[in-house]
Amino acid sequence: MAMSIDDKLGVNRFHADDNYAHILLNEACTDMEAKKKVVMACPAQLYHLQEDGSLRFNYEGCLECGTCRVAVGKTVLKQWNHPMGGMGIEFRCG
Ligand code: SF4
Repeated sequence: MAMSIDDKLGVNRFHADDNYAHILLNEACTDMEAKKKVVMACPAQLYHLQEDGSLRFNYEGCLECGTCRVAVGKTVLKQWNHPMGGMGIEFRCG
């Protein structure tokens, strides 16, 4: 039986760093097309477009794939870095 995306992501572990968000949004961004693009691009579905046009984002669960950085860069993102050592995603045969 094939595993769903949620099942596959569920076997990973994420070590949350409460003191360091490795990705930060550019809160001044008004580019709606870029916002829609990053919502579609993130394989972990971490970006959510709100009714007021703002983005909601939670770095917990980030796969560190870099897709958002390539797709929209500084238009939507203020900062993109890897998590600190020992933090972030731990892939477990997903
Ligand atoms: S690095 Fe990948 S998983 Fe993490 S927020 Fe960007 S697109 Fe989503």
